[in-house]
Amino acid sequence: MSTLVLVVNTGSSSLKYSLVDADTGDELADGLVEQIGESSGAVTHRSGGEERRDEREVADHEAALRAALDAFDEHGPSLDEVDVRAVGHRVVHGGARFSSPALVDDDLVDAVTSLVPLAPLHNPANLEGLAVARKLFPDLPQVAVFDTAFHQTLPEHAYTYAVPRSWREEHQIRRYGFHGTSYAFVSRAAADLLDKPVEETNLVVLHLGNGCSATAVAGGRSVETSMGLTPLEGLVMGTRSGDLDPAVHAHLHRQLGWALEKIDGVLNKESGLKGLAGENDFRRLVQLRADGDEGARLAFDVYCHRIRKYVGAYYAVLGRVDAIVFTAGVGENSAAVRACSLAGLERLGIEVDESANGVGRITEPTRVSTDASEVAVLVVPTNEEWEIARQTMAVVGGL
Ligand code: AMP
Repeated sequence: MSTLVLVVNTGSSSLKYSLVDADTGDELADGLVEQIGESSGAVTHRSGGEERRDEREVADHEAALRAALDAFDEHGPSLDEVDVRAVGHRVVHGGARFSSPALVDDDLVDAVTSLVPLAPLHNPANLEGLAVARKLFPDLPQVAVFDTAFHQTLPEHAYTYAVPRSWREEHQIRRYGFHGTSYAFVSRAAADLLDKPVEETNLVVLHLGNGCSATAVAGGRSVETSMGLTPLEGLVMGTRSGDLDPAVHAHLHRQLGWALEKIDGVLNKESGLKGLAGENDFRRLVQLRADGDEGARLAFDVYCHRIRKYVGAYYAVLGRVDAIVFTAGVGENSAAVRACSLAGLERLGIEVDESANGVGRITEPTRVSTDASEVAVLVVPTNEEWEIARQTMAVVGGL
């Protein structure tokens, strides 16, 4: 029986899609519709080893999904000829309500809508994606896979912020955590590589992409994670600051009279590597650093220092660590980040092997620590689309 899932990831001005076999992870096609709502839209579709880019105006999210379907018709595989079992949606914020993927129905849409205040940038776009996919695929089951769900196992002492009860109870102010589908996938793959049951494996996983976060995973369950109520907290990211003194808001407000929205916008979109070096793309940052750019040097050092700090903290949270695992764009590709953020930690049993790590881009789960290293250092490429497809089939398999 077919296990093909159309995976949809809707952003405010983009829609990513992927046709994935949930059993094997094979991707038959994938694509990106960009600049939705602007006059200069584009559809990029990859299938059969070829990539085609079609520049066209895309008025709204419905037009975006229709454009993706046109690309399937034109360049293949035709969705009428392959047996698609379900549509799997990435939904960013599931609040405290969703600890697992769920079938999309009117109640789920209402619940995701009620969570918009917690994710005002992401959930509205995800809701658009749910609505248009339900309209265009009325006969297919649809599943929401939440980025926060994996972290619903956080113990109370880890998810609770030290703020008044009314903030916590009436406004759901707490740590939620994100990148959950990536952590679910990578934790299992890391345990496989270590040849240990995931239930007996303790990991510090570092998801370093455009967004960056760290998670302590004990026996397959998230017990601490660096992103909080929103994805702003924690590590240094492409354009997000990560951790800072919350009093910075009040200080800027007092000194400059800035509105909170403006400060929030700068911390989310103009900070992180971009704020430090004027460059949020890590590949270009590395090039600038190699060319002697002072801002890029500082950005790299701050970025790695923050990772090291979290590795130490999560080591203490877990007590025993089997592996430190790097994943996502930077984690999979940058030997320099892996080496720099773990340098000098031999006393903690962590020793990166220079030649294994020096390979740079790593495309298969790989150990990059020395044989003597008590704690393994692993690079495990993430595959969020496959994980969404798998979780989608886990929900619809029995239908
Ligand atoms: P992701 O969000 O997982 O797609 O990761 C995107 C980030 O990975 C961007 O900052 C890229 O510049 C970075 N990246 C991709 N390839 C490389 C590479 N070869 N070396 C360093 N960074 C890379």
